[in-house]
Amino acid sequence: MNAKIRILLIEDDRSICSFITTTLCNNGYLVTTAASGTEGISLAASNRPDVILLDLGLPDMDGCEVIQKLRSWTGIPIIVISARTTEQDKVTALDLGADDYLTKPFGPAELMARIRTGLRHQHNLASGRVYKALGLTLDFEKRLVTLDGREVHLTQIEYQLLSLLAENSGRVLTYTYIMNSIWGPYMDSNNQILRVNMANIRRKLEKNPALPQYVYTEIGVGYRMRENELR
Ligand code: CA
Repeated sequence: MNAKIRILLIEDDRSICSFITTTLCNNGYLVTTAASGTEGISLAASNRPDVILLDLGLPDMDGCEVIQKLRSWTGIPIIVISARTTEQDKVTALDLGADDYLTKPFGPAELMARIRTGLRHQHNLASGRVYKALGLTLDFEKRLVTLDGREVHLTQIEYQLLSLLAENSGRVLTYTYIMNSIWGPYMDSNNQILRVNMANIRRKLEKNPALPQYVYTEIGVGYRMRENELR
């Protein structure tokens, strides 16, 4: 069923390249590889893959530059795979338009899960008008949020915030991205207003707000909402 899904892997490290290629081929994906940014961009344009896996440390250009170049003409999901672990590296890549970020080293199961999320995200944008996970349901058309069958009363901002995360469920959204989407680019870059609203949402949704099961915190980066169970 995955036979037609094509992955472009842009990675110059041969051993990582062969590990990923083997994992993906074993799972029925078709893989094309590029060992430089220039080659990767040109293959993305000629092959139109379904998902791009991108290393940041490439011999000819920085991976962030590759993201910028790709995002100037395509919305193909980009999953960054990198040994860079600082929060700033993740934020930069995500703000430039990467869909997700995997820190090396990672196992095959995690890689496969992230690819499925990337593919599903495109699908969700096209058809998902309802978000559902555990006891939480969000109907985008009715603007109705229910928890265990009972309506949850959210403020306008809380609803906008939750629906933004739900529409992008499974992906991490950076603080800057969320701030710009909800409050616009001229808002003070201080995240306090976002944290306050998130605390209120968690108080209304989570059984234990300190151990959230719907909206997870990616420390120093942003928030990630639990994957939509409806596909
Ligand atoms: Ca590299």
